[in-house]
Amino acid sequence: VENTVYKISNAINRKSRITTDTIHSIVRDYKRVKDMTKALNAKRSLRAQNSTTMKRLAAEKNKEAMAPLVEEAKQLKVDITAMESELFPLEESLLARALLIPNDTHPDAPLGPESAARVVSTHGPEPLPASPLRDHLTIAQTLKFIDFESGANVVGASWGYLKQEVALLELALVNFSFAMAVKHGYTPVLTPDVVQADVARRCGFQPRDPKVKGAKPDMYHLDSSHTPGDAVHDLVLAATAEIPIAGMLGNRLFPEKRLPLKYVAFGHAFRPEAGARGADTRGLYRVHQFSKVELFSVTTAEASEALMEEMKALQISIFEALGLTFRVLDMPTEELGANAYRKYDIEAWMPGRGSWGEISSLSNCTDYQSRRLWLKYQHKEHQNLYAHTLNGTAAAIPRLIVALIENGAQFDENDCVTHINLPDVLKPYWLEANPGERD
Ligand code: AMP
Repeated sequence: VENTVYKISNAINRKSRITTDTIHSIVRDYKRVKDMTKALNAKRSLRAQNSTTMKRLAAEKNKEAMAPLVEEAKQLKVDITAMESELFPLEESLLARALLIPNDTHPDAPLGPESAARVVSTHGPEPLPASPLRDHLTIAQTLKFIDFESGANVVGASWGYLKQEVALLELALVNFSFAMAVKHGYTPVLTPDVVQADVARRCGFQPRDPKVKGAKPDMYHLDSSHTPGDAVHDLVLAATAEIPIAGMLGNRLFPEKRLPLKYVAFGHAFRPEAGARGADTRGLYRVHQFSKVELFSVTTAEASEALMEEMKALQISIFEALGLTFRVLDMPTEELGANAYRKYDIEAWMPGRGSWGEISSLSNCTDYQSRRLWLKYQHKEHQNLYAHTLNGTAAAIPRLIVALIENGAQFDENDCVTHINLPDVLKPYWLEANPGERD
């Protein structure tokens, strides 16, 4: 409340969905809710006193003294019901609006849209010349590695099958990136791919109610009429393993000496990507379901910026080991989403697309998620404090496949693709299975 002006400029810089009017209404209603709660609590304590006195008088069989108290109790009931019926919907609507307030922003984050991103570092070999011959989709279809036709028949557009060597490549990439993270002290976890919409909201995602007309879905909702009787309703398919991992840590208090907590999770990411048709949707670049290996860490406020650098160093070592040409970007305010205080994206050079393509993202969410999930640690001197959470992509498989195919494709003298050179580092993780007949 004291920082209203700051919150407004922060929301504007981030082009948040929240409007200035809504922020003003939150400040106004926050004060109203506080005052109304105080008044309601005063009435409730009168009711408690009234009931204690009535119990005593009943024990003393003092009917005369009880009569006015019975009247008072009736009136208190009427007053409390009236106050609650005004307060509860206001609280609910305040919470819904407050959830739209984005996180604060790191003072060094560049201001503006995606084009304002600052290149922090570049890595790997010199970029190959751009060439349409290296287009991953054409190559993958020539070598029968990807089958979007069956995907379209069985599910719909932008759903695909990975086949033969590319199926084995996914498994190798998952195991390689998992092994790298485990070597750096991350605890391996396999997460559920389905989460409660409420948990997703607490993490800063905004699954819109599918019943609201015209709302573009940003997560897949499960139809609650088909969930078994004992299941929680309003379930969504996870857009990232960050959500089930963060949810797993909610309502927890950790001793400070246990921090940092570091997890590496494998999960499928489901993205409706509504309205996102266009150049950036070709082939595997933007699909509705993909496999992702995710890093998730929890630490103290003092340690989160250093931990972010450490996670970035791990991501860099994974992509360097894969021999990619890539760059790290400090993302500007309009690209931070609701929850990130600071975000680094990593883009790999994709010569078939003729451009850099995002392969990874790393966010410091500070205490944004932990406040909503109630994730705290016991500080030595202070009371229990909200922890800071960070999440980053160790391997978003389809984009890595795009980068590896477009950079590793080998051609004969007639410019026909012959095979893909893959990094040696994947050899220990390669399943020596016969990839079978190509159909
Ligand atoms: P995000 O959780 O949105 O930051 O995504 C993490 C990473 O997943 C991104 O850096 C991309 O490399 C990749 N990615 C995001 N959306 C898609 C998609 N629809 N299809 C394939 N890869 C994606």
